Amino acid sequence: MNVHIVDLWSEGDQVFRPNKPAWHDLAECRGLHHLFFSDRRDDIIEAKQLCQYCPVRQTCLDYAIAGDEHGIWGGLTTMERQRYVLGRSHK
Ligand code: SF4
Repeated sequence: MNVHIVDLWSEGDQVFRPNKPAWHDLAECRGLHHLFFSDRRDDIIEAKQLCQYCPVRQTCLDYAIAGDEHGIWGGLTTMERQRYVLGRSHK
């Protein structure tokens, strides 16, 4: 699995990350990225719960759709985002 986004944006190690978008400073998932790229059911449930209260949820979702990201973004898994996009295009 490609986890480069986790490495770029993980917190707590004082590494400069020029590609991290500014909105991510407000994200509920700061420092917990391992949950968002996991295949474990418990991790996915916990990640989605964090997304429910995240102040940048819509921005995150739009970013993930635009960048065709994998993992949980904006409260949706990769497959759920694909369905979301298809649903929007049929309205
Ligand atoms: S919506 Fe979820 S994945 Fe996106 S920044 Fe917030 S907590 Fe992280």
